[in-house]
Amino acid sequence: RLEIRNMVRAFGGTRVVDDVSLKVMPGQVTCLLGPSGCGKSTTLRMIAGVEMQDSGEIYVDGQLICDTVFRIPPERRHIGLMFQDFALFPHLTVGDNVAFGLSGSKAEKRARVEELLDKVGLRRFIDGYPYLLSGGEQQRVALARALAPRPKIMLMDEPFSGLDNRLRDDIRDQTLELLKAEDAAVLLVTHEPEEAMRMADEIALMRRGKIVQQGAPYNIYNAPKDRQAVAFFSDIN
Ligand code: ATP
Ligand code: MG
Repeated sequence: RLEIRNMVRAFGGTRVVDDVSLKVMPGQVTCLLGPSGCGKSTTLRMIAGVEMQDSGEIYVDGQLICDTVFRIPPERRHIGLMFQDFALFPHLTVGDNVAFGLSGSKAEKRARVEELLDKVGLRRFIDGYPYLLSGGEQQRVALARALAPRPKIMLMDEPFSGLDNRLRDDIRDQTLELLKAEDAAVLLVTHEPEEAMRMADEIALMRRGKIVQQGAPYNIYNAPKDRQAVAFFSDIN
């Protein structure tokens, strides 16, 4: 379970993240949805620990992992990351890419890698190199790599935006299935309402650094809070 409280981050006097609080439960996908520049990636980077908040606290399973004085470094947060440009290591095989963050014996690592590659349907590529794979396949390997160490929290920043439309829906569905099976608490950033409607258990609508509305997808879709929310959802049918 991930919880952030009263997170603030300003650049040059502008609060790009302005008092954001959120909870994400295990086995659930929460979408941080909002227009370009509203502060989504900044929020995610602070949770990942690669950027420091000006104020606010981050908790994992009720334990403080970061405030303005105490800070667990990114590599010890047990948080899985998947970003659009989070490329595979080209000099490692697909199997070694997935094994990258794993500890344990060789046999244990191998078993986990095979399990995940089976789940994403790419076991046959285990000894191949990433350049052999299509964009969609690389994306699935990146997902397997992120989930391999069994992170409690999974942060995803526009993970499907590099894929063509034809592939995207399939990969979204597969990704969702795997995330649910692994029982991670997922925070997914997107600027596409359609993606949030398809993937989210909960949507947090963000605008100019603030969460302006939060709830189940159909509640938000059917009852947008204000004119801007209506306009934002109006391009999906
Ligand atoms: P997009 O959908 O385009 O990815 P976003 O919601 O992820 O947008 P952020 O990347 O969080 O938006 O950026 C929010 C605002 O903060 C932007 O105006 C951006 O220019 C600004 N910003 C982010 N990082 C920095 C930084 N290191 N220095 C100065 N300004 C920054
Ligand atoms: Mg962004």
